[in-house]
Amino acid sequence: MHQIVTKQKAFFNTNATKNISFRIEQLQKLEKVLKKNEQLLNEAIFNDFKKSEFENYATELGIIYSEINTACKKLHKWASTKKVTTNFLNFPGKSYIIPEPLGVTLIIGAWNYPYQLSISPAISAIAAGNTVILKPSEISIATSALLTKIINNTFDPAIFTVVEGGIPETTELLNEKFDKIFFTGSTTIGKIVYKAAAKNLIPVTLELGGKSPAIIDKTCNLKICVKRLVWAKFLNAGQTCIAPDYVCVDASIKSEFLKQLTLEINASNFKIENSNYVQIINKKNMKRLVSLIDPEKIYLGGLYNFEENSIDPTILTDVSFYDTIMEDEIFGPILPIITYKNIDEIITQIKLKPKPLACYIFSNSTAFIKKIEKEISFGSGAINDAIMQISNENLPFGGVGHSGIGSYHGEYGFKTFSHYKSILKKSTWFEPNLKYFPLTDLKLKIIKFLMHFKL
Ligand code: NAD
Repeated sequence: MHQIVTKQKAFFNTNATKNISFRIEQLQKLEKVLKKNEQLLNEAIFNDFKKSEFENYATELGIIYSEINTACKKLHKWASTKKVTTNFLNFPGKSYIIPEPLGVTLIIGAWNYPYQLSISPAISAIAAGNTVILKPSEISIATSALLTKIINNTFDPAIFTVVEGGIPETTELLNEKFDKIFFTGSTTIGKIVYKAAAKNLIPVTLELGGKSPAIIDKTCNLKICVKRLVWAKFLNAGQTCIAPDYVCVDASIKSEFLKQLTLEINASNFKIENSNYVQIINKKNMKRLVSLIDPEKIYLGGLYNFEENSIDPTILTDVSFYDTIMEDEIFGPILPIITYKNIDEIITQIKLKPKPLACYIFSNSTAFIKKIEKEISFGSGAINDAIMQISNENLPFGGVGHSGIGSYHGEYGFKTFSHYKSILKKSTWFEPNLKYFPLTDLKLKIIKFLMHFKL
């Protein structure tokens, strides 16, 4: 590990990555090799947890290609020096900001979107002029092995390399003096990474998890909202960090909501017997999820197949904020439904929990939407939809509080991997005596005026 880091540091110090055309060249190389290996990428992700070619494109590769194309198109603008106004006190002078790369970066990925969560931050890091050591999740075995093969056969390890491994290897990596660590995963492991980074004052971005609510107001267009909700919840068998974790529905529309939910799930392809229904990643998660299904609260579903690592979409009703299933992020195809008569009670309960990664508001009432936007803090969200905010790279993607630190996608990814170096360039033709001795009352008066004078 140490050798790779040293190699990358030496390469970074050659200044080669400061060249914009060098960065674009690397990104284009990445796109080319991924496109060339698309068939293998489809096969590996299907082997890991039965993710179909369609989902692999829509939720992984398509997002990666889009990030590469945007970066290549916008990089000159993002990386350009930005002139800013110089304050009166520094007259005559110029002020500008130079975006500069941080150096050698470590990216640690999660298994649930094994390509997108590893490669997208790497695109941002390379676009910003950094070198990258990527550590994908060891849990998605086939995709991790394939990424290693593809990247390590394509790139100079001094620029971009993949290191495979689990806890021991990641712990070893975390002892190195990186210039930036970008971590995607659980809040528990996020704290370990944060602590390790703190030892060397390494800046971090933590993309973590949490319980993301979907709030259904009585004014919403129920049919379309339920359709979108079902897709967002059961896509990837609920193993999506920003999936709606639980639903809070107005009591007056509960029965109609449940009716629509049943119709929508039954009409969908999210079913154990469907060969394209994504599997639960492993037995450990199967056991954890099955233990969360309270048989007394099953409204729909509840069936599972241990051999196939698969659980039918399961709806639990009459759930309260004090039930076990409301303690931790579910991360599976189980949807608890809480009903409310007064939205303020729901807001209070959500605020008692750590700040969610996402929040979804299904409503046609502007007042209702504004109230929730104003009162609840969350990473990102959508109104009358769920998950789709991630597909707009003009929106920063990230959490807040326990759901994460920092954000990325599009230009936000570039910013995450850059330092904005501020420079004041002074002219030498004029030097007022104001700040020098002797300090007089008149000088103080002028200083007071100049410090508060705005152009
Ligand atoms: P995880 O935290 O178990 O693992 C993430 C990474 O950390 C893996 O690469 C793993 O090898 C490494 N790791 C595990 N234990 C470690 C240790 N003790 N020391 C150092 N490294 C260690 O998470 P996961 O199971 O892969 O993913 C699921 C979690 O990730 C969920 O909580 C989900 O919400 C979250 N997640 C967040 C986002 C996001 O963008 N915010 C995206 C996907 C997943």
